[in-house]
Amino acid sequence: MLGLMQQRPLLISTLIDYAESWHGGREIVSRDAEGAFHRTDWAGIAARSKRVANALQALGVGDGERVATLAWNGYRHLELYFGVTGCGRVLHTVNPRLFPEQIRYIIHHAENGFVFFDPIFAPLVDQLAPHLPLVRGWVALCDRSAMPAVHVDTLLCFEDLLAAASPDYEWPSLDENTACTLCYTSGTTGNPKGVLYSHRSMVLHAFGACSVDSLALSTRDSILLVVPLFHANAWGIPFAAAACGAALVLPGPKLDPESVYLLLEQEGCTKAMGIPTIWLNFLAWIENNLSRLDLSRLRLKHVGAGGTAPPRATIEKFHKLLGVFLLHAWGMTETSPIVTVCSPLAKHDGATREQLVEMQLKQGRQMYGVELKLAGPDGKDLPHDGKTVGELKVRGNWIVSGYFKGEGGQVVDKDGWFGTGDVATIDPDGYVQLTDRLKDVIKSGGEWISSIEIENLAVSHPDVFEAAVIAIEHPVWQERPLLIVQPKPGHNPDKQAILDFLSDKIAKWWMPDDVVFVESLPHTATGKLLKTELRERFHGHLAVHG
Ligand code: AMP
Repeated sequence: MLGLMQQRPLLISTLIDYAESWHGGREIVSRDAEGAFHRTDWAGIAARSKRVANALQALGVGDGERVATLAWNGYRHLELYFGVTGCGRVLHTVNPRLFPEQIRYIIHHAENGFVFFDPIFAPLVDQLAPHLPLVRGWVALCDRSAMPAVHVDTLLCFEDLLAAASPDYEWPSLDENTACTLCYTSGTTGNPKGVLYSHRSMVLHAFGACSVDSLALSTRDSILLVVPLFHANAWGIPFAAAACGAALVLPGPKLDPESVYLLLEQEGCTKAMGIPTIWLNFLAWIENNLSRLDLSRLRLKHVGAGGTAPPRATIEKFHKLLGVFLLHAWGMTETSPIVTVCSPLAKHDGATREQLVEMQLKQGRQMYGVELKLAGPDGKDLPHDGKTVGELKVRGNWIVSGYFKGEGGQVVDKDGWFGTGDVATIDPDGYVQLTDRLKDVIKSGGEWISSIEIENLAVSHPDVFEAAVIAIEHPVWQERPLLIVQPKPGHNPDKQAILDFLSDKIAKWWMPDDVVFVESLPHTATGKLLKTELRERFHGHLAVHG
């Protein structure tokens, strides 16, 4: 027997309608590239999103057509988040930090007819435009007075388009499985692949993100969104914030510690979301400026961190300096992205600081709405005993079922499980701990050595800024770990000091065969260590230095 309840489609337009009607006055604060502030609210974003929809209609953008953005976090980008999706077009947020050839590839692959860009990216647009014949218009996200000098015939002004568009628009009642956003994976090997989200998946993800043991978002929150709108739907926070009416603070390109601090203090932010590198620099700046800062003016309670693992010192310092709890989360572009969040359980009531930090170092527990498991190389399920290492597999309502245009072929197994390529343990309480990427794991004498675990320990050495561990070919052991260290500025650690520091913390056979020092470590466009480049650079290192 079927239930007798209504079924309304889960659409992004319902999120912005709700935010407008019930939280219309909650503020959306943006800062632009010059540092100027702009203040609007959910009602303002909703109204202009409708103009965006009419403007797309006027430009002749078809249903389902992908509309690209090359833009930082600001109110106009947020209006595109709702305006493009709400009217049945697809928002393709392009990461401007990718190499120009990659950007060209993905805009072409996505067949974008219009690209909306921040004036700061004018030089990039000049570089890209001659190679993108499918683009019918380049829309600068500014008013007429700020139009950049771009050498394209099809340059348009966002504010002119909006001024000419009617404010009256009724969102269409789309099928909830209609595509809404498109993000490409960073693709350190091979071409980037597109992940095409649906209205249904994004709305369900928003419910999950708001829930208390997840990011616990509320209308009482003011969220500093450091994570870019062009990275994995900005962790779904724009949609989740609309679902609960949270205020948003959008920092634009100014992500230096002083700017981040200014926004946190001035806007009374209660939560802030960003990758660990941002927080590492932020905390170092706080420590250096302690004597002149009045930290009691901050209202910050939670900092969300993901994308890479936050070092122990970051978690500890947030608590010690600011009384802030670092909420560690894990996910990927293919998973919308949030899958696990590291919140405490009832059993942690009364836990010591040390016990809490041990917990926070893990990637967290699976949220409701998706499923997670560990599998061995033969595909068989592995126990959740906190020791057994296997590949993380996920399935659920906001997990990819296949890449855009079928790239990469079949990516889920017959039961719908998607192999994440991340290697982890899951403890009996359900906390996931990542030990590696499948391609980065070091296979030594038939056993696996976790590069992430050694990196995490190395960065807790007082002289180490960042560390990477890679596999180097070895004639006897197949592969051995090489530790590559970027020292803190002004510090000069030596190899033996680092090895001595590690020696009582890891098994003897995990000890790196060599330690090398570099001025800086290479990163991907999303802030992850670029190990492919390190493997090339240090290829055969042990044969020479071993
Ligand atoms: P992306 O699709 O660019 O968001 O990258 C996803 C990948 O980032 C995951 O498969 C992990 O390898 C890595 N990642 C994400 N969150 C974390 C985390 N909390 N700790 C360690 N690695 C992470």
